Amino acid sequence: NPAKANYHPVDDACWRAGAPVPYLALARTLELIEATSARLKIIDILSNYFRSVIVLTPDDLLPSVYLCLNQLAPAYESLELGIAETYLMKAVGQCTGRTVPQLRASVARAGDLGLVAQSARSTQRTMFPAPPLSARSVLAALRDIARMTGHASVDKKIKKIQSLYIACRHSEARYLIRSLEGKLRIGLAEQSVLAALGAAAARTPPGGDCLDAAKGKTPDEFKAIVDEHVLTIKSVYCECPNYERVVPALLQEGLRGLAGRCRLQPGVPLKPMLAHPTKQLAHIFDRFENEQFTCEWKYDGERAQLHVPELEAGGGPDLSKAAIFSRNQENNTTKYPDVLGRLTSLLRPNVTSCVLDCEAVAYDVVNKQILPFQVLSTRKRKDASEADIKVQVCVFLFDLLFLNGEPLVRRPLLERRQLLREHFNEVPGEWQQATSRDCSSLEDVQQFLEEAVRGSCEGLMVKALAGPHAHYDIARRSHNWLKLKKDYLDGLGDTLDVVVVGAYRGRGKRAGVFGGFLLACYEPEHEQYQSLCKIGTGFSDEDLQNLTKQLQEHVIEAPRPYYSFDPQHSADVWLAAARVWEVRAADLSLSPAHRAAIGRVHPDKGISLRFPRFVRVRDDKTAEQATSAAQIADMYLAQDQVRNSTTAKTNMD
Ligand code: ATP
Repeated sequence: NPAKANYHPVDDACWRAGAPVPYLALARTLELIEATSARLKIIDILSNYFRSVIVLTPDDLLPSVYLCLNQLAPAYESLELGIAETYLMKAVGQCTGRTVPQLRASVARAGDLGLVAQSARSTQRTMFPAPPLSARSVLAALRDIARMTGHASVDKKIKKIQSLYIACRHSEARYLIRSLEGKLRIGLAEQSVLAALGAAAARTPPGGDCLDAAKGKTPDEFKAIVDEHVLTIKSVYCECPNYERVVPALLQEGLRGLAGRCRLQPGVPLKPMLAHPTKQLAHIFDRFENEQFTCEWKYDGERAQLHVPELEAGGGPDLSKAAIFSRNQENNTTKYPDVLGRLTSLLRPNVTSCVLDCEAVAYDVVNKQILPFQVLSTRKRKDASEADIKVQVCVFLFDLLFLNGEPLVRRPLLERRQLLREHFNEVPGEWQQATSRDCSSLEDVQQFLEEAVRGSCEGLMVKALAGPHAHYDIARRSHNWLKLKKDYLDGLGDTLDVVVVGAYRGRGKRAGVFGGFLLACYEPEHEQYQSLCKIGTGFSDEDLQNLTKQLQEHVIEAPRPYYSFDPQHSADVWLAAARVWEVRAADLSLSPAHRAAIGRVHPDKGISLRFPRFVRVRDDKTAEQATSAAQIADMYLAQDQVRNSTTAKTNMD
């Protein structure tokens, strides 16, 4: 029981040294985590489990990390599960003698197929029990399932799922089925897994014979050691978000060698730096009062992280291995064969390897003009052939993160920008440096913003240029980058990216298609999707037809137990939390019926959007990357009318 105080990584583990880690050991750990809400306790439980793995079966640390994150491989390998619920029901039903409708009814009661599968399995006898599952065998089987493609793959997947399911004991079935569904739902965030890894390595250092390094140290001394480990692992993972590199390096080198072995390198996409919205020009000067900053045009396209590794033999760039990754580290290389085909014109002879942060923007080559994002989104998303490409793309370079074998993320933007200008060519309409100006007055910024808008851009990015805040803040939504969109200035701080969780059938002119939708924001603390508003405006007829079609694959029987909404908003058709839309609104208001950010601003009222309008589909965001409840609460509080009334109230008090 890894929740035990003074857990002993050998005596308290349920397997022997060198044996594969039983999947049951992991499932029990997940069960404990699921029953715990305190984040520190969760980290403690998981780190005890990791300590046992480090001491007894270090090779299983990587499968354990993947399984508790419900990941199969690094994001850029795009290996995903997420098997349709009906197929999972078929697999469970065939093993337990239940029909799909019976299972559906049980799921409606229990709220979760994982729990139903667990209880169905526990009431079933097996004549010849299958050998117990191990963490590594389950991960290998899940990877096999994810890789099955083609005609007969559904049947093959169902068979493989059945063979796993039949071997499940106790809560294994619950987590196996949830993994297959694509969501563990135990409230375990990636940051907590990293913290648990760091804490485990601090207490039971890999490769040594010390089982409890806390012994003989004061709590404060030991806490400092743990903090250092956690910080190191988190920052190493930011630079090299690939557990296949980080976990073995941790096991072999311990904390000390970790940063040296896992540095940023071409081929492994890093999580990008993001910006904070600003509503008023004056805020820029509040933020960068005594700091040098620069303004760049904010292009409206798709983020493109361009990686060019060095030839194995050295001496020059290996263009055949160049790759483009999305904002979410997905591999977009086959989407942009045209862009990669013209790399030679970009790289000057003094470049052997690089990682560039860029925006790919649709471009009208004849009229030499930037085109709206909507045009870019009509490009094929994968396996595009150069001959078929109709929408041309110009890549705007705005940052240089790695050059000739050296990560640059810790250097100030001023230096990175200088290197960017010195090492890369501009080719009009193909490769261009982001237009920038180091403004010094409010009028300058205002004028530059107007120029950006006339140049078909969304607005400006304002960035710390020199000084202590001008490094590249990997994976952070940072105050060192501010975004200023033209429509921020009079409306809400930003558009919102929200999750579509339900749909309402259209009537009259909209009969036959969905006419309205229920939108939600994500609350990571409770892993909930909280209703934010209904929306029916901003859609063209064509939009509604396309969206109705697109959403069909996400239709589910009943709302998920982790959807929080008022019954008055019950949808005609419920949808799995999969699609993210960008919406605009007049403002945010407190709502007795909607649940977004409930408890953050008001104890029992949520926040809702007034006059929401659909802007576009955000294919580059996952549901968990939608605007969070905390961001919604911040946006609500930042509204002038709310701020003024709070200030007035405080003054009266
Ligand atoms: P948004 O809806 O504003 O694109 P986001 O959450 O995708 O939001 P933000 O950090 O809020 O990302 O805005 C930054 C995005 O703007 C980047 O992800 C990038 O794709 C785009 N962008 C365009 N021009 C620039 C630029 N000059 N510098 C940085 N990012 C830029």
